[in-house]
Amino acid sequence: MLDLKDTFLTAWSRIKPLLDANPDERLRRLARRHTARLQRPPREWCIALRANDLRLTPLHVPMVPDRAPARLLPHKVHLTAPVVRALTHPIDSGLPRAALKDFAKSLGVKPAVVLAQARAGQLELTRIKGLEHKSDRWGGIPLVSTARKPLAPGFLNRHRGPDPVWGTWWHDLAQTIPADFEQVIDRVPIAHADVTASHLPIAHTDPTVLCNPITFGQPARRGPRPPAPGPDHPRRFWGWRWLCPACHQTCRLLFYPPPVPLPQCITQYLKRHLARDDRDANDPAPTFACVKCHRVRGGLSWGSKDAWNHIVTLLSAGLLFGHEVEIPAFVRRHRKFSAPKRPQNRPSPKRHQVEQLLLQNLTYPQIAKELAISEKTVAYHTLAARKAHHVQTNDELKQRLRTTNTLTARPRSA
Ligand SMILES: [Zn+2]
Repeated sequence: MLDLKDTFLTAWSRIKPLLDANPDERLRRLARRHTARLQRPPREWCIALRANDLRLTPLHVPMVPDRAPARLLPHKVHLTAPVVRALTHPIDSGLPRAALKDFAKSLGVKPAVVLAQARAGQLELTRIKGLEHKSDRWGGIPLVSTARKPLAPGFLNRHRGPDPVWGTWWHDLAQTIPADFEQVIDRVPIAHADVTASHLPIAHTDPTVLCNPITFGQPARRGPRPPAPGPDHPRRFWGWRWLCPACHQTCRLLFYPPPVPLPQCITQYLKRHLARDDRDANDPAPTFACVKCHRVRGGLSWGSKDAWNHIVTLLSAGLLFGHEVEIPAFVRRHRKFSAPKRPQNRPSPKRHQVEQLLLQNLTYPQIAKELAISEKTVAYHTLAARKAHHVQTNDELKQRLRTTNTLTARPRSA
């Protein structure tokens, strides 16, 4: 399943005798299965369906009523295993390359989305003039190539899919859905009342059928919220949303979390030391629901020091820790954002207040009470102050603040 297999087996052959010799340690590690990390399905192991997938048409997917999508009316989508597999299988441009329009169609997005991916360097874009005797607008007919790195239709990170450390297992993730799977899910149109905010050509004629009037791109208002626009106010179609079958809230993505597949050695070990009910207790519900209902844990971030430990813990069901498995040389820590963070040169009055109260040797709860904020926020501002003054501890921070002439301690107000 994973390229990490050899590394993993080496570590397991070293740790397993220690666990066999020490039952307390084994119980401690088995108890990790009850932690949130192993109870929540990871995003990488979730099959996701976009509500605005352009392939969701009555031609490809059973819908009731079948004319509702064209008329922008709420409807029911009948999801079966073949439908889900067709909607989530990885999309490749093929060799040598595919027409941009065709590729966008197979991915279920508009061509502008694929163009943006090409502009970001994710796809190779070539323009050929006079291809198939077509007109040469914009410098030629655009063709794209994924360079044998297929895109994931259900991922919103420009369809790049999970982190490369997970390998290519996600290509076959949809195959884990049972063949007899069936679920009917509501899909509703979303509109908003500011018709000038969108260039979409369809202004809806019957505003009563559209729910959830939402406003995007408007400045935050102060004071009481203005009344919602009346039913006679024109509204514009703003895309589709799923209605989560569990909480009935609207959402853009629906998730189906298959259980994380474990290596054979770990499965056998769990079988020997856990009852069947205990083993199956962590399996998520086999149904589509929103991110909150499934409590999906976000994707892997190499910015976190815990990233490797997270991978090892997931793949070993908590029996191994990250420091016990050597990181293979081919695993590269990919940064999500290449640009470095710049310090913001703006006043931070709340941090200044926290610094002044710290100088008076107040504790976090006292500062929180004084400023009417939570202790967590105080900790956050203190951390920001330590970073800004390039010190490690609060004592050093106080020392630095005392020696800085610009910051003078104020008497504490009653
Ligand atoms: Zn939900």
